[in-house]
Amino acid sequence: MNKVVELENTEFNTPIFFVEEFSDNKIYIKRDDFIPFSFGGNKARKAAYFYKDIIKNNSDCVVTYGSGSSNHCRIIANMCKSMGIECYVVSPLEAGEETMNTILVKKFGAHITCVPVNEVHDTLENIMSELRKNGKNPYQILGGGHGDLGTAAFVDAYQEILEFENKNNIKYDYIFHASGTGTTQAGLVCGQLINNKKDQTIVGISIARKCPQGRNVVKESIISYFNSCNIEMDDSKIEQKLVFTDAYRLDGYGEANSQIYAEINNMIENHGIPMDSTYVGKAYWGMKQYILDNNIKNNNILFIHTGGTPLFFHELIK
Ligand SMILES: *Cc1c(COP(=O)(O)O)cnc(C)c1O
Repeated sequence: MNKVVELENTEFNTPIFFVEEFSDNKIYIKRDDFIPFSFGGNKARKAAYFYKDIIKNNSDCVVTYGSGSSNHCRIIANMCKSMGIECYVVSPLEAGEETMNTILVKKFGAHITCVPVNEVHDTLENIMSELRKNGKNPYQILGGGHGDLGTAAFVDAYQEILEFENKNNIKYDYIFHASGTGTTQAGLVCGQLINNKKDQTIVGISIARKCPQGRNVVKESIISYFNSCNIEMDDSKIEQKLVFTDAYRLDGYGEANSQIYAEINNMIENHGIPMDSTYVGKAYWGMKQYILDNNIKNNNILFIHTGGTPLFFHELIK
């Protein structure tokens, strides 16, 4: 097995800087899209934890799933290629068009199986048992890097934010980010609860799921993580800190409007920051709507750029 240098050190410490004033607030951005592996993003942060676990488990191949626009699949396929192990990706047939991510997944030599979405589960099981039958030691990663390891990655990211605040004598009243499978938000909220940070609100902007289901998934991830590290946490505290809004999901995953595209243009043209319309651009727009809808003023706001740069380029040439 080869080493993947970029994933050995999980102290990414991605930069945070001021972007713009909005409605009397100061908006800062944490550039997780700069994580130095496979175009970065939150899936790269999570992948660093899977990477270590794969080595620990002595696994010799990886099985995962995701759609054609999945940043997770790109990064896992890239990681496997770099480690010199096989990668098996199951994709739902309904997942829509090919994107730059799909092209990269293929380029990294992953074995892709496309099946109807209701057959994904069984197909994954079959691939796993087939590999085991052939003497392999497969490692399964849930879609989007969901699970306690993915959550742990963002508990650490929260720590980075805390250190930045202390070092630069700044306090973020709000943290916003795109919330999908919920692990990113779960990790941030766990970090906040562990550090007993009371005067700060983390808002997950749902890019697909509706309430209450979407919020429940985040909550389950939080509880699962605390259980996995034997940390006792009052349910009331979790309830209080978990802010997940579906007000800006539009018609669901991948749905965008002209305001989102205008925001994406603004960000690249005036700030040189690439954003895609499925995740980051949608969440950035959603954040601004949330600020207006809740009349938030005179606050320091941190937006986490969770990646998806290949999707930005995909949309640019469409
Ligand atoms: C997957 C993804 C998200 C959502 O992260 P979750 O941990 O699944 O909630 C946000 N932004 C980008 C760019 C992603 O690829």
